[in-house]
Amino acid sequence: MKTFERIGVLTSGGDAPGMNATIRAVTRAALANGVEVMGIYEGYKGLMEGNMKLFDERDVSNIINHGGTMLYSARSPEFKTEEGMARAIKVCEENHINGIVAIGGDGTFRGATDLSNRGIACIGLPGTIDNDITATDYSIGYDTAMNTVIEMVDRLRDTCESHLRCNVIEVMGRNAGYIALNTGIAVGASIVVVSELPFDEDKAIEAVLESKKEGKRNFIVIVSEGAEGFAEPFTKRFAEKTGIETKFARLAHVVRGGSPSLRDRVLATEMGTEAVNLLLEGKSNLVVCNHDNKICSMDIDRALILDRMYKGKLKEGDLDSYSEEDVQQMRDFCAKKSAEFKKLYEMSYLISR
Ligand code: ADP
Repeated sequence: MKTFERIGVLTSGGDAPGMNATIRAVTRAALANGVEVMGIYEGYKGLMEGNMKLFDERDVSNIINHGGTMLYSARSPEFKTEEGMARAIKVCEENHINGIVAIGGDGTFRGATDLSNRGIACIGLPGTIDNDITATDYSIGYDTAMNTVIEMVDRLRDTCESHLRCNVIEVMGRNAGYIALNTGIAVGASIVVVSELPFDEDKAIEAVLESKKEGKRNFIVIVSEGAEGFAEPFTKRFAEKTGIETKFARLAHVVRGGSPSLRDRVLATEMGTEAVNLLLEGKSNLVVCNHDNKICSMDIDRALILDRMYKGKLKEGDLDSYSEEDVQQMRDFCAKKSAEFKKLYEMSYLISR
């Protein structure tokens, strides 16, 4: 077992509900193991500036139920430079921090790798509503965001039903359509549009017109923000093609806030505790994942390459250091994930009427 005098915890990149529950779990798990915890404010920016506070158990009281992040988040381009990294390492040394748990997305993990390579043991935790980290089935914040979407859309649906109306709703998710696809199914959307899969507009409109003939009065269209520039023009086209009054709504950041769901609080607690366990086992440069309902971990470099493979963005040389068997395993992982996504998408249309 590795001995740590002190570890740091930070949140970086876009915030997500459940980040506070994660900070709490990391802090309490470390303290329970006799390791001190430095709460680092504003992500890597705060790390470079030495903006931090030594936490005790009470510093993380009464936060498990709160959205946002009490450590705040900031983006810091300077951290990516050699000077920025050197400043961060110096601050770690001065403050006796020899391990860090970094909660965020892929940018945050890249920063964690850079720190790991310079001798600070780092564990990344996936905290993003977008669920766009390929290595994990669930990221912290995703479940809450989806629950918020369905609450909002159910309300819109009530008024659509009263007035025989359609609402086109754009939901967050960056380039990933997970929120759109799953909430689309959960709200009984007539149409779901994601950037990952082709959308047959004529067929979808035809199905809407048929169901209208059968007496359907409310029409919900969920569009992923990854389908850039699609939702608003489509609202107009939909109204013209169907003759149905059609409104547009962008839920945007409203789904980034709010009290985390049960699932996110439990996931945050499991992942936060696991991050501390991994550090104590002497591990570094890993991201904690949830795969097939189990908490596990993956090398950050591998997770980033897997992510690029899944998104069709592999760079030259990415796979050079992996064996054929490893590469095949990664390809199978991505193929399974794509197939599951496609199956859900097809299901959403099958039952949409
Ligand atoms: P997310 O973690 O949600 O993907 P960002 O991409 O904004 O969010 O990354 C968060 C922070 O992580 C950045 O502001 C920067 O400080 C750090 N970071 C991002 N990319 C890198 C990189 N390639 N190397 C080192 N640090 C990085």
